[in-house]
Amino acid sequence: MSAEELLEAIAGEIMFCPRCRLSETRKKAVPGEGNARSRVMIVGEGPGRNEDIEGRPFVGQAGKFLDRLLTEAGLVRDEVFICNVVRCRPPENRDPLPDEVDACTPYLNRQIALIKPKVIVSLGQHSTAYMFSKTKLPFENITKARGKFNKTKLWGMHMTVFPTFHPAAALYNGKYKNQLAKDFRLLGKELVKIDITKQQTM
Ligand code: URA
Repeated sequence: MSAEELLEAIAGEIMFCPRCRLSETRKKAVPGEGNARSRVMIVGEGPGRNEDIEGRPFVGQAGKFLDRLLTEAGLVRDEVFICNVVRCRPPENRDPLPDEVDACTPYLNRQIALIKPKVIVSLGQHSTAYMFSKTKLPFENITKARGKFNKTKLWGMHMTVFPTFHPAAALYNGKYKNQLAKDFRLLGKELVKIDITKQQTM
């Protein structure tokens, strides 16, 4: 099976996943989408109201802002893989609970193992806490962690974890807007520096 077909198979599992209570209240699960050969993976927190309706990640206001941020890094959506820590909407957009994260993240792990990204951009506190725990990086909070390239290893694969604020934060507080834009410009420069061809040929 090709990487695309394997990703499709994972998406099929996620769409009917019964592993945690979030499956009882979701409209649609959101498996994630994008290029199976992308060198950059974007990991958000969890679907919001619009994502729950459409079954696609980052399609609401935060998603529109994310599209603009990707442009700052010289990227477009089709070149990256976008997904979340949890794949079903937590009611009223509450934080995902630890057992929900535990139940759901095997999907994220499988997608990472398949896509083998060079850079994982973790958006916000939850996503960064998960990626840092996975790669055994010390994590205090997103404000301290953001904007730094953490070269690390996951399952024997060299990769860089780059945390930044969640784009939704900028919708509530304008000060995050500039900081996010700055971080994505930094990401763009790093991608050029490490000479990442945006896709790998398999
Ligand atoms: N916020 C997220 O963390 N993920 C989405 O897909 C949408 C909003």
